[in-house]
Amino acid sequence: MIPFLELGASYRELKPEIDAAVSRVLESGWYILGPEVEAFEAEWAAYCDAKHAVGLANGLDALTLALRALDIGPGDEVIVPSNTYIATWLAVSGVGATPVPVEPDQATHNIDPARIEAAITSRTRALLPVHLYGQPADMDLILDIAKRHGLRVIEDAAQAHGARYKGQRIGAHGDIVCWSFYPGKNLGALGDAGAITTDDTALAERVALLRNYGSRQKYVNEEAGLNSRLDPIQAAVLRVKLEVLDEWTERRRTVATAYTVGMAQSDVILPHVPDWAEPAWHLYVVRTYDREALQDRMTEAGIGTLIHYPTPPHMQKAYTDMEIMPEALPMARDLASEVLSLPMGPQLSLDQVQNIVNALKNA
Ligand SMILES: *Cc1c(COP(=O)(O)O)cnc(C)c1O
Repeated sequence: MIPFLELGASYRELKPEIDAAVSRVLESGWYILGPEVEAFEAEWAAYCDAKHAVGLANGLDALTLALRALDIGPGDEVIVPSNTYIATWLAVSGVGATPVPVEPDQATHNIDPARIEAAITSRTRALLPVHLYGQPADMDLILDIAKRHGLRVIEDAAQAHGARYKGQRIGAHGDIVCWSFYPGKNLGALGDAGAITTDDTALAERVALLRNYGSRQKYVNEEAGLNSRLDPIQAAVLRVKLEVLDEWTERRRTVATAYTVGMAQSDVILPHVPDWAEPAWHLYVVRTYDREALQDRMTEAGIGTLIHYPTPPHMQKAYTDMEIMPEALPMARDLASEVLSLPMGPQLSLDQVQNIVNALKNA
């Protein structure tokens, strides 16, 4: 049996270091913000080649606070991918703005820059690309459109820890970059956690204010913020895992290469990697017109697969109010019925990968 992902294996590989880090926080008596969170923020900013990082409670809050820090709210429109995890849209609608979906590029499944300008209106305030599956979106084209139309760029990098676009780490291409450290992400905490990174000092300060009740000084509230602080225990765990992130990304890359080589002669469509992209390989997603049958055969062979994502946001009950017909975004609709994510993770062995490749070819 090969599970899609086994989070316990990541913990066990680092157990002495993680246990020591957790004990350190417990013994310190400091349980909200403080030195452990500040140390992680400094290390994460440096890793991302960004000037600032602000630790937050989760990835959805990172997107929400990025939008709020840019004063985006009711009456505003934000351009989002039609093909993404629903959190990208929820952050936009959550601040009272309207998510305006743009269809993906056929090859990469990421937002298609060539379709963005047609979606821009006088109400558009920002572009919100997602580096889906850990594959960087085409940032130069996106930044160029934003510049010409006076728009801000918020990146959803929840799947892209360590990915590079034209050699530069994801982390500060746009105005503000949003991270999730949900346990299953490439840099995963042992619970919920998130952050933003940015080169803009004012934006970083605004997010730091908003995450802590809008307060810099206790009982002095400058604005109506919320509580979205990164937990110091999670910060300590993340510091341990950050030390091995590059090595673990390299292992994911090795797995991805073995898949790509092993399945070159198969009927499924394999991930397309543009030559300017160094993906973080959060997911290895294949595409097939007979997805149900393929997934069943893989299950019978004892191989766990998942679907990212079975229902696109515009077809969720949560967005029936927007009255977007399924066929209005046919690419997102079709991808949802054709994609299949194969097992991927730093602890997957090449023997296991070979078994998965054989099972897929036999299916
Ligand atoms: C995981 C994820 C999020 C949300 O992160 P949480 O920490 O679960 O709130 C947002 N966007 C994308 C693309 C994600 O994969």
